Amino acid sequence: MSLQKELKNKNIYQNEITKIYPQSIPREFDDYLSTFPNHHPMKKQFIPSHEEITNTNGLYDPIGDSLHSKENGIIHRYKNRLLFTPTTVCPIQCRYCFRKNELAQRDELFKASINELINYLQNHQEINEVILTGGDPLMLSNDKIETIFKNLAGLVDYIRFHTRAPVIIPKRIDNDFIQLLKSYEPHFKIISIAIHTNHPDELYPAVDECIELLKSTKVKLLSQTVLLKDVNNNLETMTSLFKNLSERGIQPYYLHHPDKVKGAMHFYLPLIEGRELYGKLRDELPGFMLPHYVIDPSNGRGKTLAYNGESLDFSGSLIDRFGNKFTYNE
Ligand code: SF4
Repeated sequence: MSLQKELKNKNIYQNEITKIYPQSIPREFDDYLSTFPNHHPMKKQFIPSHEEITNTNGLYDPIGDSLHSKENGIIHRYKNRLLFTPTTVCPIQCRYCFRKNELAQRDELFKASINELINYLQNHQEINEVILTGGDPLMLSNDKIETIFKNLAGLVDYIRFHTRAPVIIPKRIDNDFIQLLKSYEPHFKIISIAIHTNHPDELYPAVDECIELLKSTKVKLLSQTVLLKDVNNNLETMTSLFKNLSERGIQPYYLHHPDKVKGAMHFYLPLIEGRELYGKLRDELPGFMLPHYVIDPSNGRGKTLAYNGESLDFSGSLIDRFGNKFTYNE
């Protein structure tokens, strides 16, 4: 087949994929991605692959969100913590995203109602932390974030952002956002930001500048990483990532076993492989550089430690946070 024809066919195929799972990459990050060779882990995370539509395995709701979803962007899964998803918009479309089937139908910036959140919190005084996720909460304007801060001050002790924005659009962390954080620090016991990052090459100079700005506040900086086949499922990449994060003052917090996501099963790897890798990481890194390795089963029971002491043979059952043993089906 001629190269022209091959490229044309590839484009038609690509259109088929992006009709189902949209693609968007901000220009500056795209320029950065173009410096990597094809099939590099950095590209694999963001460039559509035919496997998204040819591999029909996986689940639409891989972590059982729907079992805990209330209306208007509220997810109440853990007793004293509440997830609030004020937007379905993201700075980029990660091809492996566990919410990719939900976000593929995104059509609105604000799907949540702050008034309903307040009502819910007033009726559930056991909740002391609101976790802003999405989509990506940093896709909201500073004004919208201030509205959230203003309404939550005095109602909860802790606020946490889960965001990919510092890596994808580091300029989002502008001076106004920094001032906003500083002005609301006295109103909460802890404001934390969990930065989603999967590969050491995601820590490039513009991200370093953004991290320095964040470090000028009292905000607690955490990281969350998804274990992904052919992206970071090797000891060298993982060790480098967690060392680099720690050296920058970011506490490695969560390493997520990949979810069984429809359209993203090419990133999936069996639990036993993740456990073997984590076992080696434990030898390689001091405890303070080691994130919790967790799995979110589809029955909605919530984050469960994926590496239990009783499972040193790298197989066997898991124990959920209620002390119940269960078998994880590959
Ligand atoms: S930024 Fe987060 S929520 Fe958005 S597509 Fe990426 S992984 Fe999914």
